[in-house]
Amino acid sequence: MAQLKDDCFAFGGELMALERAMEILKNRIDIVAEPELVSLRDALGRILAEDIASPRDVPPHDNSAVDGYAVCHNDLLPDEETRLPVSGRVAAGHPLGRPAKSGEAVRIFTGAPMPDGMETVFMEEDCTADGNTVILPPGLKSGANRRKRGEDIEKDDIILRRGQLLRPQELGLAASVGRDRLRVYRRLRAAVFSTGDEVCDPSGDSIEGGIYDANRFAIMGLLDSLGCIVTDLGILPDDQNQIATALQGAVPVHDIILTSGGVSAGEEDHVKAAVEQNGTLDFWRLAIKPGRPIALGQVKGTAFVGLPGNPVAAMVTFMVIARAMILLLGGATNVSAPRFPVVADFDYKKKSGRREWVRASIARNLAGQVVASKFRSSGAGVLTSMVAADGLVELPEDIEVVRAGEIVDFLSFNEVSR
Ligand code: AMP
Ligand code: MG
Repeated sequence: MAQLKDDCFAFGGELMALERAMEILKNRIDIVAEPELVSLRDALGRILAEDIASPRDVPPHDNSAVDGYAVCHNDLLPDEETRLPVSGRVAAGHPLGRPAKSGEAVRIFTGAPMPDGMETVFMEEDCTADGNTVILPPGLKSGANRRKRGEDIEKDDIILRRGQLLRPQELGLAASVGRDRLRVYRRLRAAVFSTGDEVCDPSGDSIEGGIYDANRFAIMGLLDSLGCIVTDLGILPDDQNQIATALQGAVPVHDIILTSGGVSAGEEDHVKAAVEQNGTLDFWRLAIKPGRPIALGQVKGTAFVGLPGNPVAAMVTFMVIARAMILLLGGATNVSAPRFPVVADFDYKKKSGRREWVRASIARNLAGQVVASKFRSSGAGVLTSMVAADGLVELPEDIEVVRAGEIVDFLSFNEVSR
């Protein structure tokens, strides 16, 4: 298993903009997943580990885009109807088997190869069949209703690049050039645990003063949606030795270990101390809300991410930081999720110098605009807000005020968790 360098996440401690953090991650994180060959059917959601060049033209031959009659354009009378004998028939998968003759029409169906020498197809509904002949209207251009060989893809074109996330359309495209196996990066193995003496598993009773462990299930779901193989390490008490033992067990068989809670400043430092027994941990003070700090490090070369304990902060920091890390470790090249412009329907004040994400739902207003409505509470522990919202309105560092009616960026949850 490839390993991260000791100082991979070394960080001086000043407040850092997200953009800068992403730059550092992109520069320092190497792919840890080795490539493997999988069948196309098993490749959905995986990351491509090779460039794919097409071994053929697609479509492989000129073919008809419609049902109708193929002709040589030269045989047509320019200003009046043309009557031609119909002396052949080609259907998809059944070529004519001989060159076309001048002066004939050939009955043709969608996807059928164009007879050699013919370049024009009349749509069935524009023609009149009359016994063994067909009457064709004037005015059709040469090449009408024909799809050219190589129109979609030319032989040797690179159709997919290394690092591409494979969605259904990429699988279709690979199949269209005859690939039935793809080289992809193996799935990352991720381990997740929660810490906290107060944290209880939802399968058991809650202790007095306890809370149920929400984060572990949300984080495991986020990891599943990134295609990771997830190990559930459960809940660990606020105890350095027990955490260190769990880390030691997890390190040899995982690429990344994630936890939540216990890493905020002023906390009893069990997680930090446990990680540092066999690795390094740095607190990245990001200029973001919700979510700082996030602890990044490595234990014997396996990446470690300490997410904030507040459930909303844990999820949001996962979406905007940990997700990118995991994609980079797994070989993906595009790690930023798209933002869409929407109209804010709320006024909002924020501190300048930090990026904020506001949970919001979107709907169309009477004018047809897509409008984002802010969830009523902005508490970092309010998980209902994550369920009610469709995503996050992202407010950049430099702005201090948003007024209703202004255009803002929207990050859909669909883009960062499926
Ligand atoms: P911490 O970062 O440990 O100080 O935790 C911050 C807040 O998040 C506290 O209110 C914790 O009780 C809460 N919290 C920590 N871990 C979890 C968890 N796994 N599930 C839900 N809430 C948590
Ligand atoms: Mg705690």
